[in-house]
Amino acid sequence: MRGLRVLVASTDPAPSLGDAFERPLARTPRRVPLPQGRLSAVEINAPSALKRWLDERRATLESIAVEGTWLDRDDIARLLSLSLPGIDELAALLEISRLAHSRRFDLIIVDTAPTGHTLRMLGMPQTLVDVAVVFDRMREKHRVMEEALRGAWRPAAEDVLVTELVDTAEELARLLRDRSRATVSWVTLPEPMAIAETSDAVQALESTDIRVASILVNRVTPRPPSECRHCDARRAFESTAISKLRAAANRVVVEAMDVEPRGIRALRLVAVQIAGSVEEPGKARTVRRWRAKPAGAKMQPADILVPSLKLVLAGGKGGVGKTTTAAALALSAAAKWPERRVLLISTDPAHSLADVFGVKLSDQNRVVPGGPSNLRVRELDASVVIGRIRDRYVEAIDQVFDRLGGGGRFDAAQDRSVMRSLIDLAPPGLDELAAVLEITEVISGAAPEWDLMVMDTAPTGHALRLLEMPALMQDWVRALMSILLKYQGVARLGDLGVMLLELSKGLGRLRELLADSRETAFVVVTRPAALPRLESVRLTRHLKRLHIAVAAVIVSAVGRGTCKRCLRVASAQRRELLAIGRAARTLKIPTLATTEARVPPPFGVRGLEDWAGTGWRRSW
Ligand SMILES: [Zn+2]
Repeated sequence: MRGLRVLVASTDPAPSLGDAFERPLARTPRRVPLPQGRLSAVEINAPSALKRWLDERRATLESIAVEGTWLDRDDIARLLSLSLPGIDELAALLEISRLAHSRRFDLIIVDTAPTGHTLRMLGMPQTLVDVAVVFDRMREKHRVMEEALRGAWRPAAEDVLVTELVDTAEELARLLRDRSRATVSWVTLPEPMAIAETSDAVQALESTDIRVASILVNRVTPRPPSECRHCDARRAFESTAISKLRAAANRVVVEAMDVEPRGIRALRLVAVQIAGSVEEPGKARTVRRWRAKPAGAKMQPADILVPSLKLVLAGGKGGVGKTTTAAALALSAAAKWPERRVLLISTDPAHSLADVFGVKLSDQNRVVPGGPSNLRVRELDASVVIGRIRDRYVEAIDQVFDRLGGGGRFDAAQDRSVMRSLIDLAPPGLDELAAVLEITEVISGAAPEWDLMVMDTAPTGHALRLLEMPALMQDWVRALMSILLKYQGVARLGDLGVMLLELSKGLGRLRELLADSRETAFVVVTRPAALPRLESVRLTRHLKRLHIAVAAVIVSAVGRGTCKRCLRVASAQRRELLAIGRAARTLKIPTLATTEARVPPPFGVRGLEDWAGTGWRRSW
């Protein structure tokens, strides 16, 4: 509206930007018609952005790899044709940099994926430097040879690419830290879990010298137009939550609208609020607790699970109550089947399980005080898992090189160093890979440690990445095995051959387990609002395409108070519930359930057990 040429770009693999503008968007920028100003929008598709980037550099990359490793052109072509896991964030960042260089826009606003993966994305310039270092090491052999032959070394296209990578990385790193050119606004909800996540994220960013300029607290409950226990309790709760926000950033409060804002007109109202910032909820009346009185038949969360299940995944859009639902499902299942060993595990890099239970958690399985004795809880630490596996592979690869010795086309010392740095490269976006490796070990092994694993997944886009990962990894393992076999018999591969074979078998078992509706169930969690509903319908369709059974759709936090505003919100919720019901029928979802809104929301073993026992209602 101020005359700038603006691009808004979503880097979330499950974007909602088009839903917010109420118009279909694409992977290239499209104009969004406005009464004044020039706005374009794009939903960046990481795989196609990466393909574009690779295609422009494929020949050079191939020749770096052919000259720098013992692989031949066929091997390299085969590896480059595979999808690369865990580099969505890198691809998105490269695409933003490309769009910025096009000079078509004065300002680019990036709508990022939820917390964990945004932190990964902002750390990506370093990964790019690491990639350049590996390529540079591969070029070393060539450089030495050229110097010996010609007496001097002149940079070729391959070296230019290495320099380009370093330059791009440095430029991105500088841009993210230059307060006159880039700024980070963190968006959160006025709830303890979201505020804790925000404080952690702001701190993590500041430790890398990226400053969060403003924190936008969204969907704050406005002062009720008349006496309302819901709104009073909610405002007291929100005000306490906001007061715990430890960050020096400028704070902006945006009030909840009766209906989720969609379309230009509604979004402009939000823009006015952001510009003006409304008052924070005041210190409050004495009402502290409130519960919706929901209709429908009572149910237990574990009712949606059949006894043969081994893996239950809870997933959905960020902020819909995934973690609380996963925790209630695990508690309920552990109580229902005391003889079964249940593991509740979070694979979201921005973990919230500890905040829901109110206890410290780590990568070690632990009993939650007051919880069932057959339940363990764990927050997966991808770097620990990847580190452990990396150590095993480094050892096995060293063995291979020890046997190779020197001579021939092999230069053992140099190849070993390239191989090591390739393994060390493991980009920070490998959370999904780590999760899959871990599940493969703990539930699809010969003697599984757990009878039931309940997984609190990262929000939609990355939950889907996780489920696509086993097939992708199997392609990689097969390609690596066949390349290794080409150079020496499997017997001589020793431990490495055995490990890859085991991994391949484990991934095969995991894929069977995921595709078997008796063993694996996905529970889609959503809110009675338009954007989460639209996203959960897309998620369910995608899961069907992946042949993963959706056991239930759970609609969180249903019910409002008695003031005029609450009545309007409640009727908007009912419309959304009807729409969710219609979609769920069409998609043949076996169970649709709602969970009641509570202030404060369920927390700790007691609170969760109580909510699981009395707050769930079955629609069918
Ligand atoms: Zn109210």
